[in-house]
Amino acid sequence: MDFNLTEQQEMFQRQVRRFAENELTPVVDIMDKENNYPFEIRPKLAAMNLLGIPFDPKYGGAGADHVCLVLAMEEVAKVLAPMAISMQVGNVTCDRFNKLGTEKQKQEYMIPICENKKVVCFAFTEPDTGSNPKMITTRAKWIGDGYVISGTKRFITHGTFAHASLIFAKDDDGDISLFIVETDRPGFSIDKKMDKLGLRGTELCDLIMEDVKIPEENVLGGKGGKFDALKDAMTIGKMCLSAQCVGLMQASLDEAIKYSMHRMHFDEPIFDLQAIHWLLAEMACGLEAARWLTYRAAFLKDQEINTLKDMAIAKLFATQTAVDVCRWGMQVHGAYGISKEYKIERL
Ligand SMILES: Cc1cc2nc3c(=O)[nH]c(=O)nc-3n(C[C@H](O)[C@H](O)[C@H](O)COP(=O)(O)OP(=O)(O)OC[C@H]3O[C@@H](n4cnc5c(N)ncnc54)[C@H](O)[C@@H]3O)c2cc1C
Repeated sequence: MDFNLTEQQEMFQRQVRRFAENELTPVVDIMDKENNYPFEIRPKLAAMNLLGIPFDPKYGGAGADHVCLVLAMEEVAKVLAPMAISMQVGNVTCDRFNKLGTEKQKQEYMIPICENKKVVCFAFTEPDTGSNPKMITTRAKWIGDGYVISGTKRFITHGTFAHASLIFAKDDDGDISLFIVETDRPGFSIDKKMDKLGLRGTELCDLIMEDVKIPEENVLGGKGGKFDALKDAMTIGKMCLSAQCVGLMQASLDEAIKYSMHRMHFDEPIFDLQAIHWLLAEMACGLEAARWLTYRAAFLKDQEINTLKDMAIAKLFATQTAVDVCRWGMQVHGAYGISKEYKIERL
């Protein structure tokens, strides 16, 4: 066993940390307070190779590994979690093209996604199903020279500005296929963007498809059998989400330590009180456990081992623990924990 990051991974981590602190700090309020997306950041994400981290440079990727992907997610989420979700969309959609795409589709989509010339969103959730994607009702009807797609996709990140969407739909046989649907096709529309509690500014909306005609070449990975492709894509999503939770927890712990060192009670900083030590200790334990579950899952992915279970474990633990850790961080801040003047409120 070797728990060390390689020199390349450490260098990448340092670069993303610097990028996040310098470039993302100034746009926090645009996302969090205004619920808007700071589009000026996208060319910078592309220049840093953050939209396609574990992919071959010949398809626009950074040529790094999945450990680098989680390190980047963690560093970005520490500063601005919704921007990490934004990176996740680039990486997850690239991953589908990489796994399932023809050479032409890879050229047509992966390179432009990585260079921020195209934005592709990823859509399986519907008004009546999220947790059980086998129940999706979006239809793809074969019409001899292509398909007609009809249905609604809900909670789609980047839905308001994507050039195309990867749509999971049921074909005439009731089997799930995956389709590339360009958003400027007749019959394609979007609903208003959602105002939401957290992870704001990600341009989340419904996609509405009313008899959208697409050519046969827009099928990704051949007809049928794409439930497994969806599960596989979700394992990468889970890995990214776990890493974002690690970033949130690290930020919460940093904020709690900083605050407790300055907040005075009876002439001593509350940092010196044992009750605060206990909270900080619980936070540090949860953070480290979630971090290593996440890094290990990414490491296994890089060994091309089936990580379905490991990603699910990492996500379950990291998401639940992140809620606890951020709540404890708020406790350390007392009433200031709910003030928008303090970062812990957003975390
Ligand atoms: C910030 C954000 C971004 C998102 N971005 C995207 C995106 O880009 N693309 C996309 O396709 N989707 C996206 N989603 C949607 C997300 O994938 C769904 O919210 C998720 O799959 C859960 O579905 P649901 O919300 O319909 O919940 P439901 O499936 O309706 O679940 C409701 C509750 O019931 C529980 N439940 C469900 N089934 C069971 C069961 N069998 N046993 C026990 N309990 C159960 C759930 O745990 C949950 O507590 C996004 C969601 C969020 C919050």
